[in-house]
Amino acid sequence: MVFQAARHKSPPLVGLAKRHLENLRRRDFVAGAALIDGRWIEGDQRDVVVDPATGEEIGDVARCSVADMNLAIAVAERSFAEWRAFLPERRGAILRSLASLMLAHTEELAILVTSEQGKPLAEARYEIGYGAGFLQWFAAEGERAYGETIPSHKPGSVLQVRMQPVGVAAAITPWNFPIAMITRKAGAALAAGCPVIVKPAPETPLSALALARLAEEAGVPRGVLQVLVGNPIELSAPLLRDARVRALSFTGSTEVGRLLLEGAARTVKKVSLELGGHAPFIVFDDVDLDKAVKGAMDAKFATSGQDCLAANRIYVQRGIYDAFIEKFAAAIARLKVGHGLEAATDIGPMTRSSVAEKCKAQINDAAAKGARVISTKQDRVFGQNFVFPTLLSDVTDDMLISREETFGPVAAVIPFDSEEEVLTRANASEMGLAAYVYTDSLRRALRLSENVEYGMVGINTASFTGPPVPFGGWKQSGLGREGSRHGIQEYMELKYVCFGDL
Ligand code: NAD
Repeated sequence: MVFQAARHKSPPLVGLAKRHLENLRRRDFVAGAALIDGRWIEGDQRDVVVDPATGEEIGDVARCSVADMNLAIAVAERSFAEWRAFLPERRGAILRSLASLMLAHTEELAILVTSEQGKPLAEARYEIGYGAGFLQWFAAEGERAYGETIPSHKPGSVLQVRMQPVGVAAAITPWNFPIAMITRKAGAALAAGCPVIVKPAPETPLSALALARLAEEAGVPRGVLQVLVGNPIELSAPLLRDARVRALSFTGSTEVGRLLLEGAARTVKKVSLELGGHAPFIVFDDVDLDKAVKGAMDAKFATSGQDCLAANRIYVQRGIYDAFIEKFAAAIARLKVGHGLEAATDIGPMTRSSVAEKCKAQINDAAAKGARVISTKQDRVFGQNFVFPTLLSDVTDDMLISREETFGPVAAVIPFDSEEEVLTRANASEMGLAAYVYTDSLRRALRLSENVEYGMVGINTASFTGPPVPFGGWKQSGLGREGSRHGIQEYMELKYVCFGDL
């Protein structure tokens, strides 16, 4: 069946990331020091960082303590008055400068991302540009965070609504986009006038700490952006408990999101959550098959499948089902598995071994329940974090892969007959992040875009996110929005003022 691999002489994967990191011009990017109150903290204890492709240790970082986090909260609270008093234009200039520094250091940042996250270098380079884009966007958006004047319902009075920064913000970020998930949150918070404490995923701390180095160079004042690495449960506890932390933004699993929402309830924080997805990708029989297959490839295999927007259930109308499978299987067979730092690689390792295990469990479950498994063979031996791109056809609703997010390079294709049927099946999920529809019918596209219960919908495209548009999900995929003019609101409070007796 699956995972056949033959030994042959390929360049060794072990040592590759280490060599790249040793050659980085910016040695401070690999120092692994946390940033608290403008000081770089080495820490009494250190945690190792590994290359997910090989399991090899490639660096280490400070393990911050609860006391460090308490200090960071106090410092952030103190820095709030100074930062909010900066004119939006001045805050914007600093954010733009950080974006420029990121772009100038694209190669070094991309090497860090690939070394600790595993994604192909080209995708890591793309992430740096994507991440910088949020800073540029929010730099301008901070200047446009208008209030309003409301026509008065009271004689002789003027009614104003003002937008004001909420206070100290905390950002807990995942490992799949170790740079962009930070800038999407911190860019909005900083533009709004809020100091931010970032707690990155333990798998990808180096990227976050490098970003903090550049933020310091860009002129973000002391204590306004702090980055603390360490145990997620220990470090999130003070953030949740402390009433001075007024906003919490999290990207990660729905399971952890629920815990954080519960924890934040005690001090009634503003909470924004970007959680799991389980995207339906619906292909009707009136489409250009090549375009639909290209879309499915992009929507499924970007970030080696470790993307919350990843197509998890690919529904294909019965008339074109066999033809779709044939072309899709051929495209998947062309994907090259390898180390992210090798130029030809399309699919890198899973960042976490638990993701690889989940993929394999879903494949085995589907096979046991009658799905056809078409797996790519690769002419090399890989470690346990690798999952070969796999196509599962004739998937049914009782299989695990139809019911839970995969987060890896396994594509489930499911036949359907009618629009009504596929809409019901697409909406039969607790998740509601993204949906894709491929059809040549404008009426059908309008109907489906209206009726799918998802926060983001791509019609005949697999590429639709970016700084100007709202990112976020319905149902248990999250709360609030990032990017767009809405993203900054997560870090602002409305204040209504009534001037009476004029
Ligand atoms: P995760 O929930 O395990 O981890 C995310 C972050 O939470 C990390 O910083 C981690 O250290 C921290 N964390 C883990 N357990 C914690 C706890 N008990 N208390 C406090 N913090 C804790 O998620 P993940 O596996 O890193 O990311 C994958 C998930 O994230 C997928 O479900 C994916 O769909 C989702 N995701 C969503 C979006 C989105 O924008 N909606 C984007 C990327 C990923």
